[in-house]
Amino acid sequence: MMETIVSSQNQATIARPVRLCGISANDFRDCVAEIRPAPANHGIVFRTPQGPVRACIANLCRQERHHTTSLRNGEAHVRTVEHLLSALYGLGIDNAAIELKRCGIPFRDFSADWFCRLIVHAGVRELPERRRLAKITERETFFGPGGETAILSPTPHDRLTVECHIDFPDPIGKATVRYDSGDGNYADAVAPARSFMSSPLADGDSDKWERVRSIYPILPEDPSESPLITYTEGRFLTPLRFPNEPATHKLLDFLGDISLLGLRLAGRVEVYRPGHRFTAETVARMAP
Ligand SMILES: [Zn+2]
Repeated sequence: MMETIVSSQNQATIARPVRLCGISANDFRDCVAEIRPAPANHGIVFRTPQGPVRACIANLCRQERHHTTSLRNGEAHVRTVEHLLSALYGLGIDNAAIELKRCGIPFRDFSADWFCRLIVHAGVRELPERRRLAKITERETFFGPGGETAILSPTPHDRLTVECHIDFPDPIGKATVRYDSGDGNYADAVAPARSFMSSPLADGDSDKWERVRSIYPILPEDPSESPLITYTEGRFLTPLRFPNEPATHKLLDFLGDISLLGLRLAGRVEVYRPGHRFTAETVARMAP
């Protein structure tokens, strides 16, 4: 159960526009995006040549494969929004207009680090209007079909705290990471965590990396410079940026997907084995 409250916090937007140029994570073609300041109560809205797409659960593409989060509104379609949404959420940006020349969002790696650095460089501007929050008022548990679980609990404060648990085969294994929106350390502690992908090839194959690259042309010659963590049985092909990077990436994704609620969440969430589909279903069930 949740209720909408007006908090003592103010809404915020990006202080000045930020231009992103690069290739899209979907088709690896050149694309351009610009994150622009927006007034209070505007929310996060992608502006595509086909029309606007608000970042909200009603616009989630449920038909697509679920290793990523995509949004659609009529003919307008934006793919792989979760890392940018996570950066905006983590940095406290409530309102922004994101102009897209095509449907793709440029990226540097499969983390939120680049987005975060650009937004921090541009600055965050507080708006005079108060922020409305979705406050958890009763303990509630949601289960997914694959063992995913989210336990929502009320807290006396108006922050969001998350405890994220993962359980994968080696070398990722079991891990737990924690987040507190009041800590203000999203940019350093969460944003740099990259996504991860199991190599489809067995250990002991000397041409392993080249074969992975033939499937994923975005990958560089040197696996240690990969924009996402790749691993095979028992070992990582890409060195981790920090311990628990895979679990931290799951937390990063969780924050991006939870932002589709449209309001910041206040309370405590323990989440086990989260994935895009489960988090989106949890948001849909929570939505006021
Ligand atoms: Zn991700």
